[in-house]
Amino acid sequence: MVCEDLSFKHICKTCQNELLSPSFYKRKLLGKIPVYSFYKYQDIESLLLTKHTDLGYYIYTILAQNSFSAFAQGFKYENKVCSLSVDDHTKSGYSHTAILNKQLESSCIKPRYAKLRALSSTSYSGKDYQFRLLNPRNFQMKTFEEEDVIIVDDIITTGLTLTQAVQEVQNQGKNVLFCLTLADARK
Ligand SMILES: [Zn+2]
Repeated sequence: MVCEDLSFKHICKTCQNELLSPSFYKRKLLGKIPVYSFYKYQDIESLLLTKHTDLGYYIYTILAQNSFSAFAQGFKYENKVCSLSVDDHTKSGYSHTAILNKQLESSCIKPRYAKLRALSSTSYSGKDYQFRLLNPRNFQMKTFEEEDVIIVDDIITTGLTLTQAVQEVQNQGKNVLFCLTLADARK
């Protein structure tokens, strides 16, 4: 996908090492909840745009293995933490946030699916901040046993989606440790 070399993966190992070494970009939601992103959106835009194609599943898996999985292996916490993928509906055969979440499976993290979904089907894609503010996603959390939570999404733009997700999880009495996203699209 990136170079012309023959590879049995969609992105060869050399390109993965050179282009997909994750960084750690940080911002905060609600004044205190950290959001960590592994890539800048513009640096991997062509790969992220495969999301709605047949290749998307493989590309997202490779991206997640290079970032989410590596993060999870180094993550330590006193309790077992649960990770929730935002709005992990199955579109075009797979859910891109569930792919990311799956790679967090580790001794300290238990990925859970279909626990945090928007009741509103309104899409924020391509919409401005004003539209997003006026059209809340109405997240609803289903119960699970862990108290401490990591929230997972693929791209953070304005941060409104994750803010609403965090508020719902907090309203249900859970402790949100931080959010993890693949890419930060802030300019
Ligand atoms: Zn390559």
